[in-house]
Amino acid sequence: MKPEIILTVEDVNKEFDGFKAITNLNFYLDRGELRVIIGPNGAGKSTFFDLLTGRTKPDTGRIVFGRSTDLTSLNEFEINRLGIGRKFQTPSVYVDHTVFENLLLSLKGPRGVFAALFHRTTAAQRSRIDELLGLIRLGPKRDLRAGQLAHGEKQWLEIGMLLAQDPQVLLVDEPAAGMTDEETHRTGELLISLSGKHSLIVVEHDMTFVKQIAQDRKVTVLHQGTLLCEGRFEEVQANPRVREVYLGRGKAHK
Ligand code: ADP
Ligand code: MG
Repeated sequence: MKPEIILTVEDVNKEFDGFKAITNLNFYLDRGELRVIIGPNGAGKSTFFDLLTGRTKPDTGRIVFGRSTDLTSLNEFEINRLGIGRKFQTPSVYVDHTVFENLLLSLKGPRGVFAALFHRTTAAQRSRIDELLGLIRLGPKRDLRAGQLAHGEKQWLEIGMLLAQDPQVLLVDEPAAGMTDEETHRTGELLISLSGKHSLIVVEHDMTFVKQIAQDRKVTVLHQGTLLCEGRFEEVQANPRVREVYLGRGKAHK
């Protein structure tokens, strides 16, 4: 059976003051897929996320969630509420609250911050938080203030906070930036473990990391706002045009 497509991007163009940031872009993500996007600085990777999340609007083209939900007519908040979550490069956790509280505050639900922190938590909430703590491997640090966490741990906490919203699609921008090799590897394991249940797009520069998570998966290469090539990691890595614009610059290796 052909997998269901969860994101459809067709003929999308976006200019900023005459500068073409995205040109005639077509992109399809399957439900449950983990897709890695690579490309040199300025390739349009973050702009692509901005377009998917409603932060910026395309000049032309279609962006459709699921079968028929037109994302170009929705604002950032509405798109987020549909189940498309984004993790920015810099973690934004509540540094003065504990790891547990950060996750509690992020759980789906109508309650405000005050209610979340000052009312007793339900058994269902506690078990969901335990589950998230297990996934992001921060169980032993649940009562530490988030401000005390290492950089990598903060990134994992933020991924946990995104997951607390039960997103269908997760957009993750350069998660390995600033991480140690070991943290990077654990991040890869985490993202792989989320695929299937969630659909993920991961933008990354670190080729060791890309190799880890993209092995046997499809990789998309952007260059100057256009799709340079798409295919299995090994194919992309061997593509002369990719080598020329990206891998050849020595950037690809740590
Ligand atoms: P990447 O994430 O691949 O490094 P970006 O998507 O951040 O690339 O940027 C692509 C190009 O679009 C860059 O040249 C950048 O300067 C430009 N750009 C991105 N966002 C804006 C904006 N809001 N206004 C003007 N130019 C922008
Ligand atoms: Mg970027």
